[in-house]
Amino acid sequence: MTLVSNIHSLESIQKMINQNDFYLKKSLGQNFLIDNNIAKKMAQNINCNQRNILEIGPGLGSLTRELLIEGSKSIIGIEKDYRAIKLLEPLIMKSDGKLKVIHGDAKKTNLSSLEFIFDSIVGNLPYNISTFLILSWLEEIESDRKLNFIKNITVTIQKEVAERIVAKPGTKSFGRLSLIMDLLSRPKLLFNISPDAFQPKPQVISTLINIQPLKKPKYQVKLKTFLLITKLAFNQRRKMLRQSLKSISGRKILFNSGIDDNKRAENLSTEEFCNLSNCYDQMSKI
Ligand code: SAM
Repeated sequence: MTLVSNIHSLESIQKMINQNDFYLKKSLGQNFLIDNNIAKKMAQNINCNQRNILEIGPGLGSLTRELLIEGSKSIIGIEKDYRAIKLLEPLIMKSDGKLKVIHGDAKKTNLSSLEFIFDSIVGNLPYNISTFLILSWLEEIESDRKLNFIKNITVTIQKEVAERIVAKPGTKSFGRLSLIMDLLSRPKLLFNISPDAFQPKPQVISTLINIQPLKKPKYQVKLKTFLLITKLAFNQRRKMLRQSLKSISGRKILFNSGIDDNKRAENLSTEEFCNLSNCYDQMSKI
């Protein structure tokens, strides 16, 4: 039998949930994908053919199956729930050695600690840790040039978060997340996924997003300073910048960067925040 027919001979995900009395852990964001067509569409958008993949939270293997069918060269999964790993065994056995699953916590796993090279990070991420994971990966890739083998992050997240990631200054969704993502990556929304595709149905719509980490930040800046300034500015997003940046002599920095101090954080571009950060660093040296 071929890999594809082997995979098709497996029990459906829906049956796996029902037959194994698999009680779903809310704390692990367990909304399993049960719509095969969506899993296939995702795998096709991930462009996984002949690629090495890191999958976060393979769960019962809905996406993993389609990644294998679409020709992934190898897949390493990191899954926190040991019960899911046990249920993945038949798929692992039928994967021609292409699938391995590590029992671990993606939140505590540094990419550089993994002893293999992969082109893409993929997954239907647990909603409650998706932003944390994406930002940690981008910050780690930015600080460790050796990780530049990672070309794509293609993950499902809450639609509202995806919209914040790609938002432009002056719009409702725009915020600190949009700025950090713009500085460190090229994000692109792929398609939305209805709650009906999952069991249990989440209360939100999901979006598949592709994020390409940049080889170096879009503008030259010390990331630590950029994170500090954007944090201060967006802690009070409706206030004028001279007010929200008061604790770091905001007025002076704004003046020296040529930015109108009546402006609000939500109206500044990534480049302007980089100018502010660089100015702050220069003034701190004096
Ligand atoms: N990929 C599967 C699918 O599409 O049906 C499952 C997706 S479900 C939204 C999230 C998965 O991530 C679950 O299998 C859950 O157990 C796992 N998970 C949750 N927190 C995790 C963590 N910190 N590290 C690794 N896996 C985690």
